[in-house]
Amino acid sequence: MAGLYIHIPFCTRKCHYCNFFSQPALHLIPSYVNALCREIEIRKEYLSEPITTLYFGGGTPGLLSAEQIGAILNNAGKHLDVKLNEVTLEVNPDNLNNDYLRSIKDVGIDRLSIGIQSFNNKDLKWLNRSHSGEISVEAISDARIAGFENISIDLIYGIPVQSIGEWERQIDIAISLHPEHISAYALTIEPGTALHHFIRKGKRPDVSDKHAEECFRVLKRKLREHGYEHYEVSNFCLPGKESRHNSGYWNHTPYLGIGASAHSFDGKSRQWNVSAINHYISEINQGIVPSEKEELSTINMLNEYLMVSIRTSKGCNLNHINEVYGEEFEKNVLMRAKPFIENNLLVLKDKVIRTSEQGWFHLDGIASSLFEDDAWCF
Ligand code: SF4
Repeated sequence: MAGLYIHIPFCTRKCHYCNFFSQPALHLIPSYVNALCREIEIRKEYLSEPITTLYFGGGTPGLLSAEQIGAILNNAGKHLDVKLNEVTLEVNPDNLNNDYLRSIKDVGIDRLSIGIQSFNNKDLKWLNRSHSGEISVEAISDARIAGFENISIDLIYGIPVQSIGEWERQIDIAISLHPEHISAYALTIEPGTALHHFIRKGKRPDVSDKHAEECFRVLKRKLREHGYEHYEVSNFCLPGKESRHNSGYWNHTPYLGIGASAHSFDGKSRQWNVSAINHYISEINQGIVPSEKEELSTINMLNEYLMVSIRTSKGCNLNHINEVYGEEFEKNVLMRAKPFIENNLLVLKDKVIRTSEQGWFHLDGIASSLFEDDAWCF
């Protein structure tokens, strides 16, 4: 079992909090799609397992036409061993209309991940999103009419201009639309973003951990009351509706990443493509994949396992660590987890370490404290 990730690095404008690799160079889309198809062919031997999930991420993959998406899917089917059971397209609400939704469904998209972020126009303006709350509600309804039965929405919490009451209202609207999956992320201020600049200049209020933590608690409570399972720190779903593709990342499943800035993992090494669209296209056209590679040491692999497993409801399995990495590493992890277990942030049961209710919001810090040494980097 493996995954295929296709990166589409185009956006019509930049959201103020965003540090993803994306550019407004929409005129390059046709040659970029050709390069993606070529890269799939060049790297057809990268994975040895069949590919069961495919994910178009970005950027704004919804800027691609149905024909372009279909061409990429056909190419994957032609050159790779694909037995797909989930094909996700990330879209923004303002990319969607009935014809487009029907046509992407026809070419094979069966799951949508819609970048809603908030239904409140004041929040959306603050974040410099290009859509409105009304368009978001309409987009979800149109997606249902087009026959999509697996919809995920993204929300952002901890926006300084959003009160707890307003955040609760956003969650209520989300629940009323019955998405199968909700990803909710705390607003973080990344260096190099417009928000980082505005905050440094004193033009915008900074985010507050305390406010974000309160939003997170409200989110957990309300979603649980409405039947959503909290299966990863930022991800909630109705029973059986986990993101299969993203679950693969958290289970250390190999994946092939195609496109500028896309990352790949073959079980032993990580590889990442250059983050420059023109350079990517011109190298691929010459049959070269412009990328760098890092072989992962045992300790790298263990630390990655700790980082991702502790963020999921399944937790970190000490038997797995013993079997794959050895008894000494199992003992070390348990020793480092002990203070968190004693402080009720982690729970140890049946040789599995999981987060407690209180621990969820602090998992990044907890995970890095469990690492085997300081040499880990993601
Ligand atoms: S649409 Fe997504 S990728 Fe594009 S700028 Fe906004 S947050 Fe970034």
